[in-house]
Amino acid sequence: MSTFNLEVVAIDKVFYKGPCEFMVFPGLDGEQGILPGHEVMVAAVKAGELRCKVSETENMVAAVGDGFVEILGDKVVLIADFVEKAEDIDEMRAQRAKERAEERLKAKQSEREFIHSQAALARAMARLKVSSKYKKQKKI
Ligand code: ATP
Repeated sequence: MSTFNLEVVAIDKVFYKGPCEFMVFPGLDGEQGILPGHEVMVAAVKAGELRCKVSETENMVAAVGDGFVEILGDKVVLIADFVEKAEDIDEMRAQRAKERAEERLKAKQSEREFIHSQAALARAMARLKVSSKYKKQKKI
């Protein structure tokens, strides 16, 4: 199957650099898919689940933070606040972060604090979604 060259970069690391057959990322309007030959495009990425079919037998699943993706011919670059493999996610930590953010959202906050709390909640939800899906798959 044909592939494109994918680079997934987080603030603190290059997460993946190599071929990819198909990628699904969380866009502003829901999940968006990229196949080889996609038109040139720049799109926003929001916190959620990233799936990449990197070979015939390997699917990479990760939680990503807000960022953007640039599609330039056969090269695709995704840059996000964070990228974590499903198996590397500390579920308890994400659960605690979710609860903290929910508590803050219930309290009276400035607009700036509100935006920060919403972003923290979105990060925690993305991590929990990816990690629980991964755990369920491992049980099967
Ligand atoms: P917390 O409040 O738990 O630190 P956060 O959303 O504020 O959560 P970030 O600022 O997004 O955390 O990330 C800081 C670093 O910690 C990054 O390297 C990120 O990959 C890592 N990290 C954060 N939460 C988790 C988690 N639940 N599991 C694994 N790594 C995490």
